[in-house]
Amino acid sequence: MREGTPGLDARIPEFSAGLLVLRTTDQGFEWLLLQKPNGRWEFPKGKVEPGETPLEAAIREVREEAGVSDVHVIEGFTHTIHYTYRDRWHRPGEAVTVDKTVVFYLAETHEAALRPSREHRSARWMPTAEVLQALGYNNLRDLFRHALDYLQQIRYGGVPCPKRPPKESPR
Ligand code: ATP
Repeated sequence: MREGTPGLDARIPEFSAGLLVLRTTDQGFEWLLLQKPNGRWEFPKGKVEPGETPLEAAIREVREEAGVSDVHVIEGFTHTIHYTYRDRWHRPGEAVTVDKTVVFYLAETHEAALRPSREHRSARWMPTAEVLQALGYNNLRDLFRHALDYLQQIRYGGVPCPKRPPKESPR
């Protein structure tokens, strides 16, 4: 093998953290989603930097990627996803397989204004009913279902439920 040519099985770990951020409106919950340049929608996330806890990283990413800074963490929820991808430019001339882990937390905010970073095409508050269809990956859809289940468990009967109320039937 030439010097600088990667082994076919070169793998590196990567660890990111993300946050599902919701706000409550008259119609129910809305969720902060970001659209990547490739068109896929995802929740805010980013790499955990040295000296940061994953939760601190997730909160920082929401501030940097969406301009939302006043978030209140909803205790007790975490969900971790794993995926791999091929990074062709890990170093010049070196491709690797990245083993990625992303841990997600849950938070709410009263801020409505969004300021997407240049890394994203757009940012928006999306009603619960639209989120599953919009998300670009199955593991994110599973994550979202878990978050909805968790909210049902801890808030049912208290704070508004994420499901919209049934429409009144016409007389
Ligand atoms: P981070 O936001 O953690 O800094 P990044 O923007 O550098 O990450 P990723 O979003 O992990 O990179 O994207 C790297 C590759 O992984 C892309 O090819 C992307 O399509 C793919 N990818 C992104 N999210 C997922 C996912 N949830 N499941 C599977 N593959 C994904």
